[in-house]
Amino acid sequence: MTHPLTAQPMLAGRGLIKRYGTEHALAGVDIDVAAGEATAIVGPSGSGKTSLLHVLAGILAPDAGQVFLAGQRIDQLSETKRSQLRQREFGFVFQSGLLVDELTAEENVALPTLLGGGRKADALRGAREWLGRLGLGGFASRRPGELSGGEAQRVAIARALSHRPKVIFADEPTGALDTKTGRDTMDALLVTARETGAAVLIVTHDRELADSLPRIVSIRDGLITSGVRAA
Ligand code: ADP
Ligand code: MG
Repeated sequence: MTHPLTAQPMLAGRGLIKRYGTEHALAGVDIDVAAGEATAIVGPSGSGKTSLLHVLAGILAPDAGQVFLAGQRIDQLSETKRSQLRQREFGFVFQSGLLVDELTAEENVALPTLLGGGRKADALRGAREWLGRLGLGGFASRRPGELSGGEAQRVAIARALSHRPKVIFADEPTGALDTKTGRDTMDALLVTARETGAAVLIVTHDRELADSLPRIVSIRDGLITSGVRAA
């Protein structure tokens, strides 16, 4: 996706550094993500992919550098404010869905909306609509233990999208799925994200998935080695 150089990125990292002891998980990363843009993040194990997602999403505070959401600096906000921001503005899909086992599929999907102060009846109705969009119309009352890996990951995607976040962070979301299920699940994520206008950052080892996205950012030893776009 092209956009004018003057357009403000939806999400931006500037000079991001994250250390663990003497180890640099991020050694000075600059990254821009445009509204609605889908980006793959690729790189060897231990290269800093997860650290980058966590710093951009406000889960981890960087040791140096800044993170901006729609031009507002977010990395220095209090933990409470960052937690609110994550609930309202971001959606997350992890390798295995991290669904709440005791809740049904529709309750899991409704959770971010409920945490954001939404009414229960509305949240559950919205959750059923999202499950329908992801081909899980008949699964609303099932608990995670009654779902296949691919179905559970679709529930996680419905949950990540249901409160219409600005950015979806997906960390190796197909890592626990077979190739075909992984592809179908990512198609479902990308199509629904496009419908809502959410930007998507997907960390993946699946080269074919990465190649199917409009943009690939490669990272090695905590540095972006390709895919940088002029700010
Ligand atoms: P990736 O997701 O690309 O596999 P990570 O961001 O998880 O990479 O890790 C980057 C580097 O930081 C690795 O060398 C890893 O060992 C180190 N690291 C990540 N998290 C921690 C942690 N909580 N404590 C210590 N070192 C960590
Ligand atoms: Mg990782």
